Amino acid sequence: MTRAAFDPLDAPGAPGSHPDRPGHPSRRHRRPRCRVCGLHEEWCVCPILPRIDLPFEFLFVQHAVETARPTNTGRLAHHMLPNSRLIVYGRRGETADWSPLEEPGADYRLLYPRSSTRRLSAADWTARARPRLALVILDGTWHQAAHMAHRIAPLRGMPCVQLAEGLTSHWPIRHGRAPGQLCTAEAALRAVEALGHATAARHGGSHGARRRSHAIHEGRAAIRTDAGRRAPRGRVLVDRPGGPRRGAAMIRLFRKKEVHRPTGLGWLAIAAAAALLGRPAGVGLYRFLAPSSSDRSGMLVLEGWVHDDVATHATAAVRDGRCRRVYTTGGPIEAGRWLSEYGDWATVSRARLLEEGLDPALVTAVPAPAAVKDRTYASALALARRLRADGGLPDRLVLLTTAPHARRSRLLFARALGPGCRVDTWAIDPRLFGATNWWRSSEGVRVVLSETFAYAYARATVFFLSPASEDEPPAVVPEAP
Ligand SMILES: [Zn+2]
Repeated sequence: MTRAAFDPLDAPGAPGSHPDRPGHPSRRHRRPRCRVCGLHEEWCVCPILPRIDLPFEFLFVQHAVETARPTNTGRLAHHMLPNSRLIVYGRRGETADWSPLEEPGADYRLLYPRSSTRRLSAADWTARARPRLALVILDGTWHQAAHMAHRIAPLRGMPCVQLAEGLTSHWPIRHGRAPGQLCTAEAALRAVEALGHATAARHGGSHGARRRSHAIHEGRAAIRTDAGRRAPRGRVLVDRPGGPRRGAAMIRLFRKKEVHRPTGLGWLAIAAAAALLGRPAGVGLYRFLAPSSSDRSGMLVLEGWVHDDVATHATAAVRDGRCRRVYTTGGPIEAGRWLSEYGDWATVSRARLLEEGLDPALVTAVPAPAAVKDRTYASALALARRLRADGGLPDRLVLLTTAPHARRSRLLFARALGPGCRVDTWAIDPRLFGATNWWRSSEGVRVVLSETFAYAYARATVFFLSPASEDEPPAVVPEAP
């Protein structure tokens, strides 16, 4: 039976001790504390802690940070196991004496998971190679334990053992971060059990455990209140490795998250994939936005705001007889209207076709009212009213427009005209770009990207737009000059 002469409360930084006068209470913690359990003397739990005599020895290697923690359970285990010693690692200005870890008569086992670790069992005691068995337990957080196992030379080559997996704590004084992570006192008791002394372990672990835990919690609550931190009423303070959980009762609005970023090689792979797939994807996007029917015969509707080359296609279609009638659509001209005799795009477009020599009787302008949003839809509604006034909607019409706008125009015209009228598109590339090179011009990038978002918006909101009503009186549309 050996006990170290070390007294944790003599350590600088120990609970309640003055940094310059070991053992003397600091100004912050005026009330004297127990030297073992670290609680105020009136809350001391040491008298109710069991004492367990065992034939094998325990060596607690305690991280210096733990000496200052009232939540530490290594001291309690050291107190409960008379055949134990406690060595402190990392105390400033002191060199620890590691000779207890290198005694020739002892067969050591380090309770720590390494790759070669096996399960601690009664055979470790019965089949020991030397007269004594000494079980070394690291007392600290998991991070501190890993640090000590690596830095303390005698521990590096020591045979390692571990407890059975999935153990649950019967002594909830200090909780692990994950199931199976036990506090030092609990780990010591489970090791006693694994070494074939189950009765002794039960005596230390479960007998009076509830009373003991309660007493320790109450004592800690008193320390916190004394230190200016009010203990929450009716709540048991349970500590975790790494110190008390700050702000546990607060509502959390942010959390830490691990983020994966590409490496240099990753960026290279992304660039290569973009170079390989970028062009087909760009061409595919443009073709998606610009569906174009091969049958361009029948009634033609020309969106008024399109450029002159598109309008020329309408003239050609009428001239070669594919198309019998043209309607031009569009809302008010928003810039320079007072300089022109035309107030809207529908009328401008009609005038353009007449200038190219089309018969005025074949071309009808259908101006749309000013609209803050869904301007294409407003044009389509105006067209529906006009067609009804002219004798009813056709079964099919061809919508002539610029390419990236075609899919959105088709969607909105089909909605306004209703299911009885099929809308086909005739999509003409804008003057400056096409499917295979739009990403090379700033205008192309701007138009294609904005049309992509605009189409997605139209697709999502089209069901909220009501089709033109048949009962609605047709708009009175003045014929352009
Ligand atoms: Zn005590």
